[in-house]
Amino acid sequence: MPDGTESESRKLLGRLRDTMAEDAAGQARLDKITHLTADSMGSEVCSIYLFRDEDTLELCATEGLKKEAVHQTRMRMGEGLVGRVARSGKVVNTADAPSAKGFRYMPETGEEIYSSFLGVPIQRLGETLGVLVVQTKQKREFTSDEVYALEVVAMVLAEMTELGAFVGDTAALSARHTQPTMLRGGTGQEGTTEGHVWLHEPRVMVTNLVADDPERELQRLDAAIEQLRVSVDEMLAGAVEDAEQLEVLEAYRMFANSKGWRRRMEEDISRGLSAEAAVEKEQSAARARMSQVADNYLRERLHDLDDLSNRLLRILTGQGKDTGASMPADPILVARNIGPGELLEYGRQLRGIVLEEGSVGSHAAVVARALAIPLVINATRITTEALNGDHIMVDGDQGLVHLRPDDTVVTAFRDKIAMQAEAQERYASIRQKPAISQCGKRISLYMNAGLLADLPSLENSGAEGVGLFRTELQFLVRNKMPSRTELVAVYKRVIEAAEAAGDKPVIFRTLDIGSDKVLPYMKPTDEPNPALGWRAIRVGLDRPGVMRMQLQALLRASEGRPLTLMFPFVAQWEEFRAARAEVDKAMAIERKLGHVVPEKISVGTMLETPSLAYASNKFFEEVEFVSIGGNDLKQFFFAADRENERVRRRYDTLNVSFLTFLEQIVQRCSATGTPLSFCGEDAGRPIEAICLAAIGLHRLSMRPASIGPVKSLIMRTDLDALYDVICDARERGEQSVRGAVMDFMRWQG
Ligand code: PEP
Ligand code: MG
Repeated sequence: MPDGTESESRKLLGRLRDTMAEDAAGQARLDKITHLTADSMGSEVCSIYLFRDEDTLELCATEGLKKEAVHQTRMRMGEGLVGRVARSGKVVNTADAPSAKGFRYMPETGEEIYSSFLGVPIQRLGETLGVLVVQTKQKREFTSDEVYALEVVAMVLAEMTELGAFVGDTAALSARHTQPTMLRGGTGQEGTTEGHVWLHEPRVMVTNLVADDPERELQRLDAAIEQLRVSVDEMLAGAVEDAEQLEVLEAYRMFANSKGWRRRMEEDISRGLSAEAAVEKEQSAARARMSQVADNYLRERLHDLDDLSNRLLRILTGQGKDTGASMPADPILVARNIGPGELLEYGRQLRGIVLEEGSVGSHAAVVARALAIPLVINATRITTEALNGDHIMVDGDQGLVHLRPDDTVVTAFRDKIAMQAEAQERYASIRQKPAISQCGKRISLYMNAGLLADLPSLENSGAEGVGLFRTELQFLVRNKMPSRTELVAVYKRVIEAAEAAGDKPVIFRTLDIGSDKVLPYMKPTDEPNPALGWRAIRVGLDRPGVMRMQLQALLRASEGRPLTLMFPFVAQWEEFRAARAEVDKAMAIERKLGHVVPEKISVGTMLETPSLAYASNKFFEEVEFVSIGGNDLKQFFFAADRENERVRRRYDTLNVSFLTFLEQIVQRCSATGTPLSFCGEDAGRPIEAICLAAIGLHRLSMRPASIGPVKSLIMRTDLDALYDVICDARERGEQSVRGAVMDFMRWQG
């Protein structure tokens, strides 16, 4: 097809479709495709290379190269011209292959006599499955129409691979989505779990790729785009309050009206693709670009285009979100990303969650933690690899996902789950016991909370109370600002649950937003360093409206019972004073309005900035209690962003400098008699927790699931002896006391 006209390309697609319709299966199909592509394109060679595993391509069919090389010739990603196409995901078109960059001579194929080379990636939704190549003896570059035609064949091939069209008695490769696969991601919430995949966004299956009647396909596309446009306009009309949602919808509208997008799809149709295949081709291109774009904003917009393409595909294929599949009894949710509200809707029925994106500080991670559901984030390719109902094992501790695991993995993994279950039983047996160390020190263990979903843990974790109630979570999981009435209802339920669990205390922390906690409905502030920016108490004091509303809600919810509050991110005394004055003001207003006020109110502060550790003694005398927010304090102490994967694990909590700093805070509080606790994530890590206890932090607040393991270790440890170990390591000049502590623990048994 040297002149590459549209009708030629349609003819080729028509012949491909006929091939698909024939009985031939497996290898025979692949052979036919190479034969007719070479024939249609007037090239001596056409070859299909497919990935055997992540890194190895295999020659799976050829017309023109030596037949003996089929399933023998293999190359690694990046190797030779074929490997170059696979790695870059880009076309290689050269008239003189042997002198092109990366050419590798493969004698078994007999390809040395071919001069021109055109290789295109076989891609589906941004994932490269293999490479399709044509070669000619005659030295010439292929025209752009020829490149296009081969790309379309590659796309059809990708779909056929997806649909298992090459699997049969004579199968060259096993069907996709059948092999065991391990994906490596990051820890969002610890815990191991097993279950079956439930896709949050089920994939739309496109089965008719090729169409005879382009006019009809164009009409179908037109009608579908029109329907899409109307639905986007309707969504826009109903979403006036939500800034972020508005931005997404505006982007949808922009794409839905985009002439370029439409023109490219129309062109694909005129060359023989069905309307849905044309949409998917564009979607695939957008996905491929997504993986290469570094700019966050652009990536988001490409995601929007991806979402929009899915909507369009659903309209065209008539496949709704409800595919008729029923949720398995042990669902593991698989999604690209998910909002906190949607996650809460699934609730505790989920056994585990695997996200293709996400971050430790994302709202979804916050909710997963509250629900104690193991979560793996950044599991690249999970949404393309996993199918509804696939067997899946999730290791939240290591950030690993085993999809369709083989027997050895299943056995090893189940052993791990059984060991954890045994440990859970041990923890349950000490639930009602106090955490008293071997040397007789009583350590109080509290839980961190923030959602109503956390409340059952007040009973079943053994927590003595809530040491940190993160009130911002109620703001984060909604898509609009909660009203005072709604807040009163939530706080009341928390207070009542704590009362019912045996009059357990609750420390409410006032709104801590900004930095990583961005309210979806708040105007984004474009700050160079959000963690050091306008956040928490700074926002509360500068814009006191919300803080006042929240304080009123807390006062009302207490209905006269004692109330304990603390402020986040106080960096200097004055901020505490000003915030404390707001509490007094709110009390006065409530009294004036005739509401009962708490019989006793205690107001403390978080200590999350080094500056506050050096405030004057008078400050420590004035505050009623201090709670160390170790997550923030540590990031500022080491100048290492807690959200940045590159640096967040770089500095050990058991680093001598940090422990010494914490010990100084203990001494200052003890000098003024100020109650002190620690409520960062480290309190929930058993080794870190015993070290904190050893230096004098006797009140720890942590995730409910950590209380058992922490208590168990405290009960087995002589904290006085451990303190000596810490001091000795410090004396010796160790950078971190971890090594010495681990030796001590092993020795202790
Ligand atoms: C902390 O910084 O340690 C803390 C408990 O607050 P958050 O994690 O909510 O910032
Ligand atoms: Mg904090």
